[in-house]
Amino acid sequence: MSGNYLPDGVPSPHPTQDDYPFWDYCKEHELRIQQCAACNTFRHPPRPVCGECGHFTWNWTAVSGLGTVFSYTIINHSVHPALKESLPYNVAVVLLDGVGDVRLVSNVIDAAPEQMRIGLPVELVWQDLPDGMALPRFRKGGAA
Ligand SMILES: [Zn+2]
Repeated sequence: MSGNYLPDGVPSPHPTQDDYPFWDYCKEHELRIQQCAACNTFRHPPRPVCGECGHFTWNWTAVSGLGTVFSYTIINHSVHPALKESLPYNVAVVLLDGVGDVRLVSNVIDAAPEQMRIGLPVELVWQDLPDGMALPRFRKGGAA
């Protein structure tokens, strides 16, 4: 066990041509979101073209890591054998502060199922995986 919210043995992300910089920053415990260099619109998941203006250049902008729970579900049935001991656990869609409509699918590591609610303020925490990957997860707190 790693002390992570979910156990070792859960498959790690497999970075793609478009999102490998996001994951490389995660390994450095930096949450950076792709931002169009022409119109400044943030977007996630990473992709090569801005959906707002069609521009092909972007920056990786560091963000605060504060946000709120936009939606969530409580998982009661494991989809992977490694997860059986972790039931029930939450999967949350977190709306990040200050970056438009950017949302991350993650977990709120310190919230019991009955504590989860839409609008719950959360803040970023990093959880390192045995293979060197690091996942952005969240804990209760942060902005009101
Ligand atoms: Zn744009």
